[in-house]
Amino acid sequence: MEDLAESKRKLPGIPTRRKGGFEQPWDYLQMCTWVLFPLILVHYFAFLYFLLWDSLAAKVVLTVLFIIFAMSTLAFAATTCSVDPADEMLCKEVQPIYNDPIYCYLCETDVHPTSKHCRYCDKCVVKFDHHCKWLNTCIGEKNYFYFLMIVLSVFLLTTESLALSIALMVESFADTDSFMDRIRHDNRFHHFLGSPISDNAVQSLLVVSVFFFLGFVAMLIQLGGFHIMLLYRGMTTYDFIIYEQKRQRDLEAQRMQEEFQRQQQQQKDQQQVPDNDDIEEAPVETVEDAGAGGEIVGVSSIELTPARM
Ligand SMILES: [Zn+2]
Ligand SMILES: [Zn+2]
Repeated sequence: MEDLAESKRKLPGIPTRRKGGFEQPWDYLQMCTWVLFPLILVHYFAFLYFLLWDSLAAKVVLTVLFIIFAMSTLAFAATTCSVDPADEMLCKEVQPIYNDPIYCYLCETDVHPTSKHCRYCDKCVVKFDHHCKWLNTCIGEKNYFYFLMIVLSVFLLTTESLALSIALMVESFADTDSFMDRIRHDNRFHHFLGSPISDNAVQSLLVVSVFFFLGFVAMLIQLGGFHIMLLYRGMTTYDFIIYEQKRQRDLEAQRMQEEFQRQQQQQKDQQQVPDNDDIEEAPVETVEDAGAGGEIVGVSSIELTPARM
């Protein structure tokens, strides 16, 4: 029994209870986050910034906005990963502090009724929403707000990059000569890269940027919309998954029930209506039986026998 509890308690590679996203073991999606975020910053400061319009005010406003969105993303991500969303009962050596606790046999203690045990972090999390692999931490009551703020900040950050990429791409294709003259005006772009860059390379990079950020923003809109729906319905992601699984099971059970009833009805119908094959075969049976009884039958009857085989 103890071995069973122990095997269910931990996933392979989870040595101890984890407090947050900055503790090992790392997740490969977390590595993607750590690569993607700097990539978005590099994309702006090493590429888009040099293509911006000559207006100093526009450059300052756009860059300040970008920095604000980037800093808020970083701050909220750091907070989300730092806050330990574990149930209070795991942290305190006290008697149950909840009115209606439930017992977690993995944590071996009473926990909040909304707590769920995360096998990745090996702990119960109050109002468990989900385990975020991109941040490598659980999202629960204590850090759900910060998680939503990350989604909003990244959405604003990538939307700015997308909007700029689209505007610059359209401009570069609409009037390539004046666009390239503008970015070559004070030679900053070429100076930064160390060598001249071709028109096609700039345009290709802008097209790739548009598709990259388009996918990113679409994913964030879907994620944000999903959580707005959850907030509206007063559910967590976990609740929604359980609800959907139950709904799918109920639908499948209903479909099987209907199929079973249909088959039963078919069998009843077949029993009520005489079988046409039996009617057709009746004379043949008579012929065979007659032949077996040694009676001389007509030629037409004898020819019928092999016809049934
Ligand atoms: Zn637990
Ligand atoms: Zn977790």
